[in-house]
Amino acid sequence: MNMEALAGPASVRAAAPPAPGGPERPNLLGLARAELESLCVGLGSKPFRARQLMHWLYKRGCDRFESMSDLALEFRAQLAEHAQVRLPEIVTAQRASDGTCKWLLRADRSQAFEMVYIPESDRGTLCISSQVGCALDCAFCSTAQQGFNRNLSTAEIVGQVWLANRELGFQAGGERIITNVVLMGMGEPLANFRNVIPALRIFLDDLGFDLSRRRVTLSTSGLVPQIYRLAQEINVALAVSLHAPDDALRSRLVPINRLHPIAELLEACWHYIDEQNGRSVTFEYVMLEGVNDAPAQARALARLLAGHPAKVNLIPFNAFPGAQFRRSSDAAIARFRDELIRGGVIATVRRTRGDDIDAACGQLVGRVIDRTVVRLGAKAAAAQSRSPGVEA
Ligand code: SAH
Repeated sequence: MNMEALAGPASVRAAAPPAPGGPERPNLLGLARAELESLCVGLGSKPFRARQLMHWLYKRGCDRFESMSDLALEFRAQLAEHAQVRLPEIVTAQRASDGTCKWLLRADRSQAFEMVYIPESDRGTLCISSQVGCALDCAFCSTAQQGFNRNLSTAEIVGQVWLANRELGFQAGGERIITNVVLMGMGEPLANFRNVIPALRIFLDDLGFDLSRRRVTLSTSGLVPQIYRLAQEINVALAVSLHAPDDALRSRLVPINRLHPIAELLEACWHYIDEQNGRSVTFEYVMLEGVNDAPAQARALARLLAGHPAKVNLIPFNAFPGAQFRRSSDAAIARFRDELIRGGVIATVRRTRGDDIDAACGQLVGRVIDRTVVRLGAKAAAAQSRSPGVEA
């Protein structure tokens, strides 16, 4: 049966924007299972219809109600009238020489955010954003220079994984291409707690993306109260941006440390592991030449972490226009890693990926404003210069 002819594409084309001036129809990509069940009930249907809907959305990658052929026509019409499936729009897509892909996605007329896919032999990692810009102001991060624009909605966070799945498809043999999702793109995920938690639930839900909890990583700069809240809510892999072994230096690099110093942060991390029965926290440590890369600093870091469920991931600093730091030499990074290992801490070095398209850690959004403006024209540029929090 030709559903399009039956229902008319204009009325049920799921990705269509809400009627101008009308109330915003809920975006199904923003609803975790329980909320989707309530929505079905609210539309006069049975809660188990949510399972069918999720199957279409997340297993079949279908965003058109008219194609959801095992749902009653009447229910499909109800959905089309009262709900929508809306995806972030792709502004540009780029592919690096090492296979890393980066997409610029539209948040609204003048703002955009990025996601990056990093293929490796044994896994495929999608790095997604949780905010447009960031308010945390870490000294070495290019996203910080953009300032903060707004939180992404749950649907925009989930929509990134949905979209990447559609763009990348499946490997020959039906294997999934995205095996890991990391919240390490733009933004501080714990500063957008309300929208991030339902997104995490959809990533883990077996009716959603069905990812393993160890393959969904939330990276935070250290919002201590929210780490305690997270411990009450959900079990995912926790990564923490530590970057310094002492408070004086960390407060300079990661200003939130002035509010929540290292000792408090580490207590919250161990609590998370205890509460969620987790394996370990990954501490990210960006290698900045002459700033935090001395062997004595490695030994101090080892003293903080040895004997705790901790791993350290050393990230070679990625430069961006206007950066005041330089990347540590390979020799300094190797020495730092070896000191940590000698001090009883598991340590690895993150390979830099996608740097020829500015897709590496901390490079996201460095030139987004320019690129967006170029794509969206002079009107958007004028609007943007009036928006608060986006001055470079
Ligand atoms: N706001 C979250 C996620 C952001 S980015 C957080 O702070 O954890 C993911 C990682 O990249 C963080 O550890 C961040 O500190 C690091 N990073 C930021 N800028 C970087 C740069 N220029 N080079 C290398 N790593 C960087």
